[in-house]
Amino acid sequence: MEPSAYEAVIGLEIHAQLLTATKIFCGCSTGFGAPANAHACPVCVGLPGALPVLNRKAVDLAVTAAVALGCDVHERSVFARKNYFYPDLPKGYQISQYELPLATGGGVALPRSLGGKCVRLTRIHMEEDAGKSLHDGFADSDRKTYLDYNRSGVPLIEIVSEPDMRSAAEAAAFFETLRQILVWLAVNDGNMDEGSLRCDANVSIRRRGETTLGTKAEVKNLNSFRYLEKAIEYEIGRQIDVVEHGGRVIQETRLFDAAQGKTNSMRSKEEAHDYRYFPDPDLPALVVDAGRKAQIVAAIPELPDTRRRRFIEQYALPEYDAALLTQTRGVADYFEEAAKCSGNAKATSNWVMGEVLRNMKERDIEIDAIAVRPAALGGLVAIVEKGTISSTVAKDVFAKMYDTGRAAADIVAADGLAQITDTSSLEPIVRRVIDAYPDIIAEIKAGKDRKFQFLVGQVMKETRGKGDPKIVTDLVKSAIG
Ligand code: ADP
Ligand code: ZN
Ligand code: MG
Repeated sequence: MEPSAYEAVIGLEIHAQLLTATKIFCGCSTGFGAPANAHACPVCVGLPGALPVLNRKAVDLAVTAAVALGCDVHERSVFARKNYFYPDLPKGYQISQYELPLATGGGVALPRSLGGKCVRLTRIHMEEDAGKSLHDGFADSDRKTYLDYNRSGVPLIEIVSEPDMRSAAEAAAFFETLRQILVWLAVNDGNMDEGSLRCDANVSIRRRGETTLGTKAEVKNLNSFRYLEKAIEYEIGRQIDVVEHGGRVIQETRLFDAAQGKTNSMRSKEEAHDYRYFPDPDLPALVVDAGRKAQIVAAIPELPDTRRRRFIEQYALPEYDAALLTQTRGVADYFEEAAKCSGNAKATSNWVMGEVLRNMKERDIEIDAIAVRPAALGGLVAIVEKGTISSTVAKDVFAKMYDTGRAAADIVAADGLAQITDTSSLEPIVRRVIDAYPDIIAEIKAGKDRKFQFLVGQVMKETRGKGDPKIVTDLVKSAIG
């Protein structure tokens, strides 16, 4: 680990695909997984004379994210051409924003477990994605690179943080929190495997107490939280090593090699591009007037952090429950509706955190696909709380509800699952068990208290688990005398 003489400084740049049906400057689909170049037209492959037309929905989503992250959304921002030559960029420039971005400022609060510190944002700007170079997988891949322009022109926002993070764990938490918010807002689908959320990490070190920034290295394209953390940790160690051996960290772009668990140099600052940014003459300034902004602000849902705090207040839930239940908006909605129907928030929370989340995980599905809908779960929780069925039986009822779509009360009535609470039905069973085990009774009377549970267990077995355990215990106790 890093000698404590050094401090790490980290700033992240995150690219998030905006959840639009069509691309940012043309009508092509943004759908993932189509055959190569199925989603391409003269605009997004950059044919001469084709003109871009800005997608209004993309702007709304970008503004939604910016407002939710506390940024200042500028009434007027400007699209600029970022010029570089690469085959996956057919126009020879990427349309982005440079001097006048959509939004500046704002921040993301890290979880309380990490001290709740606020990581400031520098800016959020809109841009288009590039295409994809396919270097292998074809018979002639040793000689040729193929190009897929399906991604070319897909709308993105780039979110740039200030260099406010001090550890790999903080950086990962920042990225996770940001992802949670973007997915919550339905601005982004959070799918890092498909490339709709990507992260570059800028890392430098300095001696503790130093206030100026050290020279940074930028690690490109980290597409999982684990890789982000590993790459940063490796990079911190590498830089400390360089300095400890009398060297200087050089400004460069590096790539993370997941198999080796290390970063490798990709290009130095000397080889860096000069992008020759200039305003795009084909696009007018982007204007987000006060009226449009107000509409977007009004449509922003309660955000995860606020909702988490409300769950603690309103339902008297433990921190742990509230945090888990607000991981996604779908789960939070599900919980609240179920709790309304059950009348017992904590019991409902236990069921959602237990059976519901377990089913989501095991079946690999989202909350919307859980066959037991929230009102139905509320009904189940209510009869468990009333004591109509035991919680053991309730687990089976839940499974039956899942498979049949029937209501809890129906299943309990039809299958005769209600808990037996009347002593007149339980007493004969208790008597039978006691008569059947005279040896055990003798042992208990001789002081072997452990054997008592055995008798209770036998009675419960005879009732096929339906006996009220507390009443059964009382009856066995008094029958032994
Ligand atoms: P560049 O000019 O290389 O694009 P910027 O100043 O625009 O650099 O910053 C890009 C990202 O790098 C931001 O997230 C910023 O917080 C971060 N960053 C800048 N300087 C440092 C540094 N010395 N150490 C760590 N991160 C840094
Ligand atoms: Zn197109
Ligand atoms: Mg920059």
